Amino acid sequence: MDRQQEFVLRTLDERDIRFVRLWFTDVLGYLKSVAIAPAELEGAFAEGIGFDGSSIEGFSRVYESDMVAKPDPSTFQVLPWETAEGDHYSARMLCDITMPDGTPSWADPRHVLRRALSRAAEAGFTCYVHPEIEFYLLRGLPDDGSAPVPADTGGYFDQASHDVAPHFRRRSIEALEAMGISVEFSHHEGGPGQQEIDLRYADALSMADNIMTFRYLVKEVAITQGVRASFMPKPFTEHPGSAMHTHISLFEGDQNAFHDASEPYELSKTGKAFVAGVLRHAREMSAVTNQFVNSYKRLVVGGEAPTAVCWGHANRSALVRVPMYSPGKASSRRVEVRSLDSAANPYLAYAVILGAGLKGIAEGYELPPAAEDNVWSLTEGERRAMGYQTLPQNLDGALQAFEQSDLMAEILGEHVFDFFLRNKRQEWDAYRRNVTPYELRTYLPTL
Ligand code: GLU
Ligand code: MG
Ligand code: MG
Repeated sequence: MDRQQEFVLRTLDERDIRFVRLWFTDVLGYLKSVAIAPAELEGAFAEGIGFDGSSIEGFSRVYESDMVAKPDPSTFQVLPWETAEGDHYSARMLCDITMPDGTPSWADPRHVLRRALSRAAEAGFTCYVHPEIEFYLLRGLPDDGSAPVPADTGGYFDQASHDVAPHFRRRSIEALEAMGISVEFSHHEGGPGQQEIDLRYADALSMADNIMTFRYLVKEVAITQGVRASFMPKPFTEHPGSAMHTHISLFEGDQNAFHDASEPYELSKTGKAFVAGVLRHAREMSAVTNQFVNSYKRLVVGGEAPTAVCWGHANRSALVRVPMYSPGKASSRRVEVRSLDSAANPYLAYAVILGAGLKGIAEGYELPPAAEDNVWSLTEGERRAMGYQTLPQNLDGALQAFEQSDLMAEILGEHVFDFFLRNKRQEWDAYRRNVTPYELRTYLPTL
């Protein structure tokens, strides 16, 4: 047993922890959990915990369903509240999924990201990210198709004192920090009930783990405050959607490879090629960064969400932004990818963005000129004339671009690529047969 494993066992004992939850993520980004007693943990470290992978979205075909969850002791954290059983705490660890012979499972999103990161490491890079996570606080989560009611009436940066939001954000931050997840900022976002919490940068794998933990904690804290949280990309037609803008940088040792003081925006040649890669492959990876039918309701003109494939500096309509918050500070040179929404699978989304950026670096892609005009105000035709591609307008369009992408197949691996395509095609088919309230309102009275 190694030292981290020993530390986990000692902590369980010292803190009298009765349950250890082993967490992993399915291909669609849902958190899965199996609780074990501390006495089982030594065995779990040695051999893992077997489970039926065929019951997990995207994990395996029925005839090869045995899979093993191996807890990663470096992710051990005590959950910040008591269990319902009384005064005993629970803890959690993230797992890597393997086949019974110990080889990594191709269906494990954590493994997909690990592979992308080892590609980056082969090229000499470590990848740091920090997300700005937006979500809505709602009075409830109706499942009958009726409109949700926002938990407050605040707007961007509002300091409201009479509602649940400030209290909720403080509680959430306490819970996150208690689990080793540092928060940089939090504020009310543009929509009523909409919140944003920005996490302090970490390596991409830890951050993907943190995002899964974040969603869980935020939902739990909301319940304790008498409201509910949702990461649905666009719950309201008339209010902005929920993005997960992600700031990314690549380091070579302790040098920020994206920084060059002598270049415009202090963005190095490597940084430019990375952005060029993200832009060139943006349409192909859209099905992963924006994976639901509903995701494309957010990517419309006017909601501060990107629609055109372009980059800029102050330009918030751009897909990639090169922020200039701290000029001259090499360590903070980074690029902000703005297409991702809050319901993306963070492991897969970070793997495809990183893979696209690395491809740009490896092949020396040329970065097109920055878009300083407000791309929102241009018509489709004007944008085309200026050479901008448009992001897919619905899941169907995204899947057409995804299906033809050798790069996506290579980054995700054939198994995840095929499963994803099949699952998402079904989602699109189920959706497109629906006659919506919009159609009834628009057509029924007049036709
Ligand atoms: N909520 C906006 C979106 O869906 C982003 C707002 C912001 O710029 O932070 O993209
Ligand atoms: Mg925001
Ligand atoms: Mg942002």
